[in-house]
Amino acid sequence: MNKPDEKRKKKREYDKIRYLEKRDEILSKNRKHNKEYYLKNRDKILNHHKAYNKEYYIINRDEILAKTKKRQKDNRDVIKIREDIWRKNNIKRVRDNKREWNLLNNVNEKARQKRFALKTEVMRHYSNGTSSCKNCKANDLDALCLDHINNDGTEHRKTVGQGVYFWAKKNNFPPILQVLCWNCNFLKSRPKIITKNQRSDAKMKERTLKAYSPELKCNSCPETNPMVLTIDHVNGNGKNHRKSIAGGSAGFYRWLRFNNFPSGYQVMCLNCNCKREINRIRCSK
Ligand SMILES: [Zn+2]
Ligand SMILES: [Zn+2]
Repeated sequence: MNKPDEKRKKKREYDKIRYLEKRDEILSKNRKHNKEYYLKNRDKILNHHKAYNKEYYIINRDEILAKTKKRQKDNRDVIKIREDIWRKNNIKRVRDNKREWNLLNNVNEKARQKRFALKTEVMRHYSNGTSSCKNCKANDLDALCLDHINNDGTEHRKTVGQGVYFWAKKNNFPPILQVLCWNCNFLKSRPKIITKNQRSDAKMKERTLKAYSPELKCNSCPETNPMVLTIDHVNGNGKNHRKSIAGGSAGFYRWLRFNNFPSGYQVMCLNCNCKREINRIRCSK
């Protein structure tokens, strides 16, 4: 080994010892300097990184995408678990984002149009192209419903996941359904009045109907069968009001009589009541 090499080696060793002695001090000084430099030149540094990353991405796009795809494929389970946890912890944000996306893409309106088109098609099929009630020939689509001919609708609906309209079309319109209006549907499956309580409830209902319509007639159409007449909330908050009164329909009629038949209520048949409700939902959207 010649002399200058020896000297350099010694110097290196000396520097190393000195560095190890003051390591913490030097590192903290560097860190402080870096931090100060970063804070002072933050925008410049970030822009530089951004520009560099963009350039790098453009040049290596295919490679990066392939790598990302492979990583996602290899870690599908882990990613799914992580996403589920994130969604659980950010449930409000997820809902807000979904709502915003739906509004932006008009999803609700599109879904409504799709549902309406499906209903129209199924109704037309089950009424031989007339889209009207089999009994009374009422032909307002909003007042029509699909009726199970053998009265097994409750059981059938439990087995049909996506809804009866969807099921009917998918299964090529099986002949177990027919089109009825809500009035005729109710009359077909009306509850039989057997017990004393049921008789007294029926009497109370008729008394209440007469208080609001002495001639026992629907406020919007010529319907006069008291079986299908009902009391309608004029300002449309019936659902919440009925919920706040115990005892179901009978409880509601008792409440009206107890409050001396207040204004704000009218007699309507089930068809007109249903049409009104659908219109109200449509307008509120
Ligand atoms: Zn009918
Ligand atoms: Zn009516």
